[in-house]
Amino acid sequence: MPSPSSRPPRVTGLPACFFRVIQAKAVLLAAGGGPTMYLYHTPSGDKACDGMAMALRAGLALRDMEMVQFHPTGLMAGPDTRMTGTVLEEGLRGAGGWLLNGAGARFMTDYHAHGERATRDIVSRAIFAEMRAGRTSPLGGVFVEMKHLGPDEVRRQFKGMVERCADCGFDLAGGRVEVVPTAHYMMGGVVFEPDGTTALPGLYLAGEDAGGVHGANRLGGNGVANSTVFGGIAGDSMAAFAAKEGALREPDPEAIEAAVARCRRPFAQAPGDLNGLRERLAQLMWDDVGILRDRAGLQRAIAALEDLAAELEETGIPDSQPAFNLTWHDWLNLDSQILVSRAIARAALAREDSRGAHFREDFPDAGDAEKSAYTVVRQAEDGLEVSQQPVAFTIVRPGESLIEGEAGAPPGAEQEQTA
Ligand SMILES: Cc1cc2nc3c(=O)[nH]c(=O)nc-3n(C[C@H](O)[C@H](O)[C@H](O)COP(=O)(O)OP(=O)(O)OC[C@H]3O[C@@H](n4cnc5c(N)ncnc54)[C@H](O)[C@@H]3O)c2cc1C
Repeated sequence: MPSPSSRPPRVTGLPACFFRVIQAKAVLLAAGGGPTMYLYHTPSGDKACDGMAMALRAGLALRDMEMVQFHPTGLMAGPDTRMTGTVLEEGLRGAGGWLLNGAGARFMTDYHAHGERATRDIVSRAIFAEMRAGRTSPLGGVFVEMKHLGPDEVRRQFKGMVERCADCGFDLAGGRVEVVPTAHYMMGGVVFEPDGTTALPGLYLAGEDAGGVHGANRLGGNGVANSTVFGGIAGDSMAAFAAKEGALREPDPEAIEAAVARCRRPFAQAPGDLNGLRERLAQLMWDDVGILRDRAGLQRAIAALEDLAAELEETGIPDSQPAFNLTWHDWLNLDSQILVSRAIARAALAREDSRGAHFREDFPDAGDAEKSAYTVVRQAEDGLEVSQQPVAFTIVRPGESLIEGEAGAPPGAEQEQTA
């Protein structure tokens, strides 16, 4: 806490408690990513990619933004409930659950030898392809069916899932449940170092806002591990930095005024259809920047996102009071979501191959792994700019493994791992 004499300035000309400048020796950015800009998504509505958007605005680079993971089985319960998009757990497929298209036929083995047990990206693509071909359930997804495993056993093993489905009118144990792939996790995020530092001295990163931890895909369970491990490391780094750095720096009045002006903007505009803008964003991201992508769709999306950004700039909110103004929060969230969507679309257009969660129908091959590169997006004077950086193979090269017994493992790999 600063001493009273060094108390940070309040922004003037605004109601009390409106905006407050808080000085800190070190700041952790950990707003949790969350691809909520897609029509179907798993994270809750408080996630709007604010952290990534703030980082971009502050001049930091984002990497791997095209790598958006879709979970194959989000609940499909219609447009009028937020339950649509929430996850039905992976264990259903792992236990032997079937995916059926609208005609009641199993389809996963047409796409991959592992059938329903293939990885998230493969199953999501297969479901999306069935949907696009029109072989859908009544609400537009596909079905998951478990009853061949024995309804009582399903009730015992998946009690929570059975209850969640029942809340939405589905019988998971003895019938069929409608599901749809749902945007779940962002492998991309802010460029940072393994000790949590960023290009901005004093700003630290951890969790889903950070890019580069998972590469092009993520195994289930590694999201929380990422947040806790790198959160702990960043905490240690921040404590060391704060102790070493000593004095608080003077706030930059111009940066403060610019940030306040951006936040106040919707109060100065005539009220508009914020919900309509959000619905258009969700639909275009699902259609053109989602599970299957190509150049024409991505170019269409980039143009539409520019239009949406411009329209939001001119869209105001009805209530001029900032306190408890959820519409204002919606406006700010949408601002972040559109900016980060633009970064995703630009990175997806730049990557002309298909790897991990990113699939280009016009470039379906993975390309030469030895020449692997990752995308980097930054804010430039005239918009976003994308570049490609070569991947540095510091531990293993493509085709090598550290796991004993795996193809490519060097002799004594087990000892090297534990050293
Ligand atoms: C439905 C679901 C199930 C999942 N299941 C698993 C699982 O089983 N295993 C696993 O490993 N991972 C799982 N994940 C992923 C994992 O939960 C996340 O990757 C992880 O929680 C991210 O941690 P974080 O600390 O980066 O962010 P979070 O835990 O999301 O915390 C970020 C916090 O910042 C807050 N915030 C956001 N924006 C702002 C703002 N502008 N101002 C102030 N506060 C803000 C948010 O409200 C939130 O409290 C799941 C994700 C979802 C959505």
